[in-house]
Amino acid sequence: MAAHFQDELFGFVDQPIDPLPARETPGPNGQAAREKLRLVHQRLCREYGCPVGYFHELSPLDELVSSLLSHRTRNSESGAAYKELRRRFSDWTAVRDAPTSEVEDAIRACNWPEQKAPRIQQILRLITQQRKGELSLDFLEILPVREGRAWLEQLPGVGPKTSAAVYIFSRIRGRALPVDSHHHRVAQRLGLIPMSLDVGPAHAVLEAMLPEDWDAQTVYDDHEILMFHGQRCCHYRGPECGRCALLDLCPTGQTRLAQQAADTSPTRRREKSGKSAPERMLPASAPLPE
Ligand code: SF4
Repeated sequence: MAAHFQDELFGFVDQPIDPLPARETPGPNGQAAREKLRLVHQRLCREYGCPVGYFHELSPLDELVSSLLSHRTRNSESGAAYKELRRRFSDWTAVRDAPTSEVEDAIRACNWPEQKAPRIQQILRLITQQRKGELSLDFLEILPVREGRAWLEQLPGVGPKTSAAVYIFSRIRGRALPVDSHHHRVAQRLGLIPMSLDVGPAHAVLEAMLPEDWDAQTVYDDHEILMFHGQRCCHYRGPECGRCALLDLCPTGQTRLAQQAADTSPTRRREKSGKSAPERMLPASAPLPE
């Protein structure tokens, strides 16, 4: 499932940045950042293996609903909710027109079913209206990615992460970069984006950094390996910098390790214990120094 998205839901996160976001803002150090991203990509590909297999092949509309269910929910739970929704209703039209309580009941395995059920139905109704009665997002396949993502981002609760998910994780396999919380944290710590840059606006900056010769599979790999790295090494708490393949590229890791070394130096330990060096070396019976 689109489990990658655990932190965007109705107003919390993933708000559209603007109707047609500028996705070409590499900044004055754009080339250096791009080269660094290439190096990071190569290292992590060696670590986790590329190309990474796609985890499913859903239609764009299936993927949109799957992504909405996965907001702030564990993969296994949103997957169970999606399966139950598909089991109970014959198609998305039936979901759209059902009593909201029935949809809510079907997706009870995920977090906030009482918010997600009406939102999903609202989105299904809006798509039907805007597509003049047709409840499908297959038309996105023939739109340029940027245009299609802007269309998706005018839907309530759909921001850059969800629109990127619809393009890259569905059978469209479009060249779009989703940024989940792991990906975002690793990019910040590596200095690819500023620490102060939130995950929403980070999409445009990280996308602008992508080398132009990267195809959709490589962009997908980039998201996956940065996410894997956040899950398996660069944890939110206690990143394992000492064994990280990116340490020489990472200002945060280098600072952390230098700080740890300073904290465990004999001088620092003495400072922490509140005793001076001569005191600690003196036998208990020795006269105190003047
Ligand atoms: S060196 Fe540390 S902070 Fe930097 S990417 Fe690796 S684990 Fe994360």
